[in-house]
Amino acid sequence: MTDHVAVIGAGFAGLCMAIRLRQAGVTSFTVYEKGDSLGGVWRDNTYPGAGCDVPSHLYSYSFAPRADWSRAYPLQPELLRYLEECADTYAIRLHIRFGTEITTAHYDEAAHEWELRTADGGCRRARILVTAVGQLNRPKFPDYEGLAEFAGTSFHSARWDHGHDLTGERVGVIGTGPSAVQFIPRIAPQARTLTVFQRSPNWVMPKWDYGYGPVHRTLFRTAVGRLAFRGGWFAFGDTVLYSAVRGGRLGRLVEYLCRRQLRTQIPDPALRTALTPDFPLGCKRILISDEYYPALARDNVEVVTEKIVRITPRGVQTADGTEHVLDTLIHGTGFTATEFLAPMTITGRSGQLLREQAWADGAAAHLGMTVPGFPNLFLLYGPNTNLGNNSVVFMIETQVRHVLDTLTAMTREGRQETEVPARAFEIFQRDLDDALRTTVWEAGCNSWYKTATGRVTTNWPYRAARYRRLIRRL
Ligand code: NAP
Repeated sequence: MTDHVAVIGAGFAGLCMAIRLRQAGVTSFTVYEKGDSLGGVWRDNTYPGAGCDVPSHLYSYSFAPRADWSRAYPLQPELLRYLEECADTYAIRLHIRFGTEITTAHYDEAAHEWELRTADGGCRRARILVTAVGQLNRPKFPDYEGLAEFAGTSFHSARWDHGHDLTGERVGVIGTGPSAVQFIPRIAPQARTLTVFQRSPNWVMPKWDYGYGPVHRTLFRTAVGRLAFRGGWFAFGDTVLYSAVRGGRLGRLVEYLCRRQLRTQIPDPALRTALTPDFPLGCKRILISDEYYPALARDNVEVVTEKIVRITPRGVQTADGTEHVLDTLIHGTGFTATEFLAPMTITGRSGQLLREQAWADGAAAHLGMTVPGFPNLFLLYGPNTNLGNNSVVFMIETQVRHVLDTLTAMTREGRQETEVPARAFEIFQRDLDDALRTTVWEAGCNSWYKTATGRVTTNWPYRAARYRRLIRRL
C-alpha cells in the first residue's frame, strides 16, 4: 500500500506535520515512530528539572494555544502532556505506527515513490517522505578510556535511571550544558557530594521563572493576551537575544545580566573565575537558570576544571593525578547533533546516498528542508534551522506550511515530483556560509553546532522572522 505522505518521528515536528495534514484534508499518511509513545525529546528527557528554557506561550503550536500553562517555563511532564493532548484533540494517534523504526528510505525513480524499510523487515511506500527526527535524539557519551569499566551506576541525562536513588551518594556529572544546568540544582541537595566536571564554563542568564496565577490565566483566555505574550517573547528573541548571538550592542545587556548573576550568586572569587567563560556570549547556547550557580556554591558541591584523563572502576581520574571516587557517574554530554538523520540510510536519484555522499562535508539543505537529487523529500528541523535565540517550534511550523503549500501546488499542477534545483541550493548555501562566517558561533568555542571539521551545520544565522519571509517567497 502506498501512502500519500510518510512522516518519520512523532515529536514536536512530526505531530505538527500530521495535524496540519489532517486539517488540510489529507488522510493518507502514516507517522512512523521508533518509540512506544510520542513526544520525541520531551518523552526521552525525563531528568530531574527537565524543562524548556523558551517560554511556553512561544514554545507551543500557534494553532493550539493553551490558557492554562502552569508557569512561564513549564517542566517536561507538562510539555509532554501538551503534545499528547494535541495528538488526541486532532485525532492523530490512529495515524502513528509506534515501535516502527525506519532503517532505509530509497527513492524509486520509476514509480516516483519512496520505499521504506523498517527494522523488523517490513516494507512501506509513500509518495512524499517527511523526516521529523530532530537534531537531539541520539545521546553522545564521552570517549574516555575505561568508560565501560566504571563499577558504579552510570547513565546519560537523556536516559535517566529513575530506579536509582542518589540520596547520600557520591555523584559525578560530566558536562555543564543546558541539560546539566537543569538537573544539577535538583540532585545537589540529595547527593552526599556532587562533583561537577566542567570542560568549559558557559554564560548563564537569569530565568526569572514564575508561576501563572488566576490573573494571568484570565488574560490567556483571550487571544489578545496570548498573542501579547507570544509576540513579546518572539520579539525579545529576534532583537535582544539575536543581537547577543550576533555580537551586537543590544546583546551586551544579556552579557551584563550574566556577569551580574555570576557576581551576586558566587561569592568565592576562585569559583567565580572558574565559571567565567573565555569565549563570547552566544558562541555556545546561552544557558538560562536562576538555580545553577547557587547549587554550585553549596558546601557539598565541587567544580573540577582539571582535564579528565580516564574513567577508573572507582571513579574519574583527572590530569592532576586525583582519582575522584564516585558511586554514580552521570553523563550530561549532549547529543550527536550534526549527524543528521543517522543511522538511517537514505538513497535518492541514481543511487546517491544522502549522508555518505551528498553530505560527505556536512549536512546541508535548501532552507534546511530540501536536497537536490532527493525528490519528494522534506526535512523538518533539518540542517541550519536550529535557533540560538528563538523558538524552534516557529521554524517547524514554517516548514510544515511550506510542505503543505508544495503538496497543494503539486496536486493543482498534476505533478508527481518536486525537487529543489541544484542552482537554487548552491546560491542559498553560498549566502548561508557567508552569513555563518560572521556569527559568534565561529568564535573558536567547542559546541554541538559544529561538525568535527568546524562547519556550523545546525544553526540558522539570521532572525527567525527572516526564515518565514524567505519561505513565503518560494
Ligand atoms: P550540550 O549542550 O552538548 O552540552 C554537553 C556538555 O558536556 C558540555 O558542557 C560539554 O563541554 C560537555 N562534554 C561533552 N563531551 C565531553 C567530554 N568528553 N568531556 C568533558 N565534557 C564533555 O548538551 P546538553 O546539555 O544535553 O544540551 C544539548 C541541547 O539540548 C541544548 O543546546 C539545547 O538545544 C537542548 N536542550 C534544551 C533545553 C531547553 O530548556 N530548551 C534543555 C536541555 C537541552 P564543552 O562545552 O566543553 O563542549
